[in-house]
Amino acid sequence: ASPVAPLLEVIGADTLVPLVDGRTVPYANLDVAASAPALAVVAERVAQVLPLYASVHRGAGYLSQVSTALYEASRRSVATLVGARADDVTIFTRNTTDSLNLLAGAVPGRVLVLDIEHHANLLPWHRASGGATVVTGAPTITETLDLLRAELARASYALVACTGASNVTGEALPLADVVALAHEAGARVAVDGAQLVPHRRVDVAAAGIDYLAFSGHKTYAPYGAGVLIGRRDWLDAAPAYLAGGGAVRSVSADGVTWAPSPARHEAGSPNVIGAVALAAACDALAELDAAAAHAHEDALRDRLESGLCGIDGVEVLRVWADSTDRVGVVAFAVPGHDPGLVAAYLAAEHGIGVRDGKFCAHPLLARLGHGTGAIRASVGLGSGSEHVDRLVEALAAYLTDGPGASYVVVDGCWVV
Ligand code: PMP
Repeated sequence: ASPVAPLLEVIGADTLVPLVDGRTVPYANLDVAASAPALAVVAERVAQVLPLYASVHRGAGYLSQVSTALYEASRRSVATLVGARADDVTIFTRNTTDSLNLLAGAVPGRVLVLDIEHHANLLPWHRASGGATVVTGAPTITETLDLLRAELARASYALVACTGASNVTGEALPLADVVALAHEAGARVAVDGAQLVPHRRVDVAAAGIDYLAFSGHKTYAPYGAGVLIGRRDWLDAAPAYLAGGGAVRSVSADGVTWAPSPARHEAGSPNVIGAVALAAACDALAELDAAAAHAHEDALRDRLESGLCGIDGVEVLRVWADSTDRVGVVAFAVPGHDPGLVAAYLAAEHGIGVRDGKFCAHPLLARLGHGTGAIRASVGLGSGSEHVDRLVEALAAYLTDGPGASYVVVDGCWVV
């Protein structure tokens, strides 16, 4: 059990999984950066509202009114967790990818981005009206900030888009510095908060972040709901993200008057349950002792990292030599060993779930010299030292004795 329980107990922590030898063992979920298990309070909230939902914003019936109220209250919960300004817009989307694509359609100029980004915070910007420049980062944060500053002085940018915490190494850029240098050059800042919001208290207003995107399924809620929060003017000047019902003020045979945001970008029947679930997670995270959760994750990450560094033949990946803040994500390589087969061994023989591959961050993996892929273990609420220790012991055994069976990996699953 997590030391920050019971408030933030996760569900599914006692799941048993089959091993290749026919035994079953408790699952060691070290892939929470991909999707985190739902909080128990989120599951309870979903069960509570599932019988109540009906079409929002349209029906006059009682359940429609309840659903509309729940949906709009969910917006407030999400905005409150991240300290949004009173006049910021909170738009429900499907996930971070969706949020950043939406924003890409609203940016009135060129976008500056580093090569460390997840593809979700890289590829959409090439579709922005002014296109995008990708700056190859440097081995320290100080030099990376200098590169951003120099590029902002060289050319005109509407937006700097940067990750809150890397999905590969967990390292966090000092957002206050990025905001300061971008604002000085007249650019706004969009933060990909997919890996940050679940693990750090983000304060949009205090940090001067102009736009923030994150996903429910990484924030201890289920799939299907994400958010984009930020300044209204660009969003209200942009074409509706989707054309359809709910996004308009009026329609005639000749034309359309689009609604202001958030309705402008939320055409179609929305994911009310997803929004309510995300809001329940946000309410729980807002009440959580953030320092205790932070300390819990730091301790697990340090234990994991020192265990991995203690194994001959394992190399831990880092982007910057001078990073000081990291969330609970550790990527590593076992040179000479295929990451897919190592991950399959961990799953098949030890019931450990990790992620392998290029983590949707191909440019960064290539720059770090691991263009063919690596392995990532990640921790959060609900993770325990027993999970970390199992991974370290299993990996040490793999390097000493090799796998006990032979595998091929088909569609990410091991097959003997
Ligand atoms: N950004 C980062 C940093 C991520 O880790 C991820 C998910 N791996 C995404 C964006 C995309 O999130 P989603 O798949 O929920 O859109």
